[in-house]
Formats: sequence, structure tokens, C-alpha cells
Amino acid sequence: MSEDKTNNHIKIGVLAVQGAFAEHRQILEKLGIETFEIRQQRDIAQDFNGLILPGGESTVQGKLLHDLGLFEPLRERIESGFPTFGTCAGLILLAEELSNDSHTYFATTPVTVERNAYGRQLGSFYTEENFEGIGKIPMTFIRAPLIKDAGKDVQILAKVNEQIVAVQYKNQLAISFHPELNSDLSLHKYFVENIVQVHAANAYKKGEDASEHFTSVSSLRHSAVLAAQARLSA
Ligand code: GLN
Repeated sequence: MSEDKTNNHIKIGVLAVQGAFAEHRQILEKLGIETFEIRQQRDIAQDFNGLILPGGESTVQGKLLHDLGLFEPLRERIESGFPTFGTCAGLILLAEELSNDSHTYFATTPVTVERNAYGRQLGSFYTEENFEGIGKIPMTFIRAPLIKDAGKDVQILAKVNEQIVAVQYKNQLAISFHPELNSDLSLHKYFVENIVQVHAANAYKKGEDASEHFTSVSSLRHSAVLAAQARLSA
């Protein structure tokens, strides 16, 4: 339907140095979105509209990002407003502060995160909880980090047992669990509709200045932006 048409022009890069990147690609492709893997610097030279930081092991991913020369270019992009979705280890990479680790990575989302907050052995569980703007969705936690504290402009989108498991800060969606391990497509759809397409449409409205800010825009065809705008105002 028209949804697929809109999504056809959106291209999302999935960080693929370690972890559950293939599953994210499968979900996005079910939504009709083109994806590619980010493994080295030349992968991000192409035009694309959003970035996914998958779950896995944040220490390994952090080291590889530096070794591959991907760290600084990606950090700059995220900081300048590029639509980014971090899941689990991806949340750790985005967190401004880690309560139980002296490292930080991109540090672009003003939250304090505790790594392995549910313990190393008993850390995996499944639940269904409300996600702001979507409703009840499946949530799979695997040695998950928890969001202990969120800065004032951070929107809290989901809690499990009173603890924050999902936030949005401007262009950044960051969650503790693994949405790519369930067949539910709603969270990826949320990312595309509420962050990727909104940024693309805003940048289009603001013209050239904004397109400098949102690197994704140049790749969006005029019709895709109009379709996104129409969807947003519907
Ligand atoms: N425990 C991992 C870390 O600290 C995150 C786990 C995950 O991504 N499922 O990096």
C-alpha cells in the first residue's frame, strides 16, 4: 500500500561490527525499507536516512568502532541530529553516563545507564508492556542495561517494574530491550515514522540550511518527502 511506497525511498544503515544486526535488517525489510550494513568508513560515505545501533557487547562494539575509524564520524552525525535507534548495547553506546563503568562512548543521549542491571545470569526475560504512542509491545531483555536517570529534555517512552527501559531524546531513540528478536514491527515503524521521516520532512521544509544539518536529506527524493509530510499531517 502507500506505506510501502513511502518507505521505499528510506535507507537505513545498521552498524554491523558485532551483535544482532541481521535481525534489525530483517524487520526493516519487512517494512519495505532498504537497509545496508555499516562495517567500515566507506559504508557511510553513501546517502542514508537513519542509523541503527544493535544489541551485542558494548565494550567490543566500542573498541571496533574506534579501530575501524567509524567512531568519530558516527558520533558527529548523531550529535548533529541524524536519526539514530540504539537497542541494548546500542543504548549503552548512546548514554552520556554509565553508572557502573568508567567508559562512555558516543555519549549523545543525556541519560545515566547501568550495564547488566539485571545481573549476568538471571538477566534474560520476556515481558509485554506499554510503549508511549504504540500500546503494549513484546520486550525481550538480555543482560540488559537500565536507564537510571534521564535528563530534562529526555522523553520517557516505556517502563518495566517502575524502571525506565525506553527514551527518546531529539533524534535518538534508545531502549534497553531487543525489539528485533520478536516478530512485532511496531517499534521500527515508530522509529521510521517519528524520527526518520519527521527529520526528513523538517529538513525539506527548512531548505538548504537544514539539509546540511541532517545529512540524510540529499538522498530523499522529492516525492518521498511529500509523502512523508502527507502522512505526518494526516
Ligand atoms: N550486556 C551487554 C553490554 O553491556 C548488552 C547486552 C545486549 O546488548 N543484549 O554491552
